[in-house]
Amino acid sequence: MAVLRPASTEEVSEAVKICAEHGVAIVPQGGNTNVCGMTLASRDAVILNLSRMNQIIEVDREGGTITVEAGATMQAVQEAATEAGLLFAPDWGARGSAQVGGAVATNGGGLNVIGYGTTREQVMGLEAVLADGRIWNGMRHHIKDNSGYDLKQLLIGSEGTLGIITRLVFRLHPAPSHRISMMAVLTSTDRLMDALALARQTAGDQLVAFELMNGLGVELALERYPDLKRPFETRADWYVLIQLAGGPTVTEAMEQIFSDGFEQEIFSDGVLANSIAQERNLWEIREQLIPIQYFDCPFAKWDVSVPVSRIMEYLHRARDIASDVDPELVCYAVGHVGDGNIHYNIFLQGRSEAEAERIIPELIRRIDDLIAEMGGSITAEHGVGTAYIERVRRLKSGVEYELMLKLRELFDPNGILNPGKLLPRKG
Ligand SMILES: Cc1cc2nc3c(=O)[nH]c(=O)nc-3n(C[C@H](O)[C@H](O)[C@H](O)COP(=O)(O)OP(=O)(O)OC[C@H]3O[C@@H](n4cnc5c(N)ncnc54)[C@H](O)[C@@H]3O)c2cc1C
Repeated sequence: MAVLRPASTEEVSEAVKICAEHGVAIVPQGGNTNVCGMTLASRDAVILNLSRMNQIIEVDREGGTITVEAGATMQAVQEAATEAGLLFAPDWGARGSAQVGGAVATNGGGLNVIGYGTTREQVMGLEAVLADGRIWNGMRHHIKDNSGYDLKQLLIGSEGTLGIITRLVFRLHPAPSHRISMMAVLTSTDRLMDALALARQTAGDQLVAFELMNGLGVELALERYPDLKRPFETRADWYVLIQLAGGPTVTEAMEQIFSDGFEQEIFSDGVLANSIAQERNLWEIREQLIPIQYFDCPFAKWDVSVPVSRIMEYLHRARDIASDVDPELVCYAVGHVGDGNIHYNIFLQGRSEAEAERIIPELIRRIDDLIAEMGGSITAEHGVGTAYIERVRRLKSGVEYELMLKLRELFDPNGILNPGKLLPRKG
């Protein structure tokens, strides 16, 4: 296996031409932070790592765009936008390592999709090297272009299977002058949608994040990371974390949500972050809810999307299935409920590998079917990679799957780009 580290689009193109000529598979690699086995490489493949292509090329303040190389980290792009008084919206825990090329190739979601949309919504133009080494320059800086199929949309979320993204133009947003967060205890899970409706009605488009946090995860995070501070004394099964961003009125709007939430008995305890440090503490608790660090046992996972109004129904029905399979299983949910996305894990604590081999396939089949029946997705923002490949194949309609296979055939007839990810290996 070789690792190539090109420094320019032309070098990527040259490398791909050589690989294409010799039928060598290429695995594009950004920050390697994906959670779906997307950058696994077989011994005879070449890893093409984009980290040397990390330049911020231009910030256009008036036009509200930033032009960058694909290997720049999300954090570097966020900082460049902030310096110009603007906001680069994509944001999640891996910001320091994940590259914007990787974020686009996976169409990452993250913490503020409810406010700004997914990474897809931020891309105005892109450049990519195709499977035969040709360079496609789609570096558009304008919003409107109905001159044909919008090819960049195919590259977004393609997980390195249709082309190697080398440069990008992103839309930037006005930087909010004020930002405020609150964390509150839900009186009952049945009030989750009331909490979301209250936040939406009160804050409108100032609502940028609405997260659900489970009590077990909060306790585990506070125990593991002593620097985190317990926000309030009440210990509960479910909390919500809400963020508003915009002008000075956000404080008033958040106070309104806070007091109405108590009055309407949606919240039973909570805290409004009054300082940057307090707000940072709340979001660090949220970012430490990634469960893999706390459980050392077999598990099944989903990155569920269902219609927002049916999230609680999903959580109840998935738990019922888990209890039916084995009453001792630990269900763990955390996520961006404001946009209908929940990261859902079921841990098989105390179960042997042999038991796991029996239990996990049953859980996966039954909960995948539940999500399909609810019109949702089993992988809302993390993508397919190798982790969900067979499960997605089982659930997609024949028509949709056939079109996906044909698209890959069109872009990469010899199947050299990231083979065996998103779609089954050719041949
Ligand atoms: C702590 C943590 C929190 C996370 N939170 C979120 C979250 O909230 N929301 C979310 O959506 N994801 C989240 N992720 C997952 C991950 O950060 C994203 O999938 C990210 O977009 C991957 O970027 P990367 O640069 O690390 O790409 P990699 O992991 O290196 O690659 C991911 C895929 O993109 C392809 N690829 C990478 N660069 C290019 C390129 N230039 N051209 C073409 N293909 C390319 C690769 O071949 C691979 O298929 C999280 C991960 C961690 C570790």
